[in-house]
Amino acid sequence: MTSATIERIETRLVDLPTIRPHKLSVATMYGQTLMLVKVYCSDGVTGIGEGTTIAGMAYGPESPEAMKLAIDAYFAPAMIGQDATRIQALMAHLGKLVKVNHFAKCALETALLDAQGKRLGVPVSELLGGRRRERLPVAWTLASGDTAKDIAEAEAMLEVRRHKIFKLKIGAKDLKTDIKHVAEIRKAMGERAAVRVDVNMAWSETQAAWAIPALADAGCELVEQPVASPAALARLMRRFPVALMADEILQGPESAFEIAKNEGADVFAIKIEQSGGLFAAQRVATIADAAGIELYGGTMLEGAFSTVASAHLFASFANLQWGTELFGPLLITEEILTTPLDYSDFELTVPNGPGLGIELDEAKVKRFTRDGLMKVTK
Ligand SMILES: [Mg+2]
Repeated sequence: MTSATIERIETRLVDLPTIRPHKLSVATMYGQTLMLVKVYCSDGVTGIGEGTTIAGMAYGPESPEAMKLAIDAYFAPAMIGQDATRIQALMAHLGKLVKVNHFAKCALETALLDAQGKRLGVPVSELLGGRRRERLPVAWTLASGDTAKDIAEAEAMLEVRRHKIFKLKIGAKDLKTDIKHVAEIRKAMGERAAVRVDVNMAWSETQAAWAIPALADAGCELVEQPVASPAALARLMRRFPVALMADEILQGPESAFEIAKNEGADVFAIKIEQSGGLFAAQRVATIADAAGIELYGGTMLEGAFSTVASAHLFASFANLQWGTELFGPLLITEEILTTPLDYSDFELTVPNGPGLGIELDEAKVKRFTRDGLMKVTK
């Protein structure tokens, strides 16, 4: 077994513009900040991980700035000199030193897996049990805030064969306006595409009970996180001919078990950051499989590194009934990889090289790096 210790850890914040404003019920995004962490090991191998949130702190308790601080001040000093090849043992050790901080932990675990894959000459998917599929269906989110613009965007995506599953962000407007918006897009798409919605917890239970049947009538096939409360979501289950998906309330294996126990969702949106890392997300998927809950590969609108890390994991899942929404890199105007990802024929190809199988364009990200690199070393 190869041995390698961690010598240096670098973090940086990279601010990138988005192709258009992205409107959610919680906020409107005009740009995306990636927290990139690079782990340097004694055998000359390096790994990169990413921590990214949706709309700063509007979606959850961590921010890119807080992740950077947590790594610089707490995680990195505890990692220097540790064995980089014993990833699960090291992450368990860090778990004792730092509570929660799921996104920061995911970024570090991703960097360690990238390095280990490069060290062993295998893709990250092989470190997670081996891939069952080479390509993943990718949904696109229509969130311009305007029905006509969304239809034009969907038509353009169908035309270039990039996406044929569309998720609509609703919940910020009144119920009737939102339902009309969904119905018009569904009608324009006809049988050519699937239409789903994400409410991002914006509705009360009574609003959801009124709106979900209308969405089902409009031809919507999936409603994501209509309400904030797990108990309310469970009460909405089986009342309407449409699948209900849990996203925000899924915060790792323990919450997954609680939701499964209460028959609280038809589908889980699995996210590596929200779960607390790739291994934790793998456990969430196992719980879903055991409970007969279907799976969807979610995104925190991440850049290439967490998107590809997610792709390696989702490629290894036994079930992935609802495809993925790994479109994050396509929402950003700048390409940060030396070789762009392959999005074609409505799917993303899972990279095949060692580790994550992608390479950072250092010169490109340097231009967008906020205050230079922070280095923690011995
Ligand atoms: Mg969601």
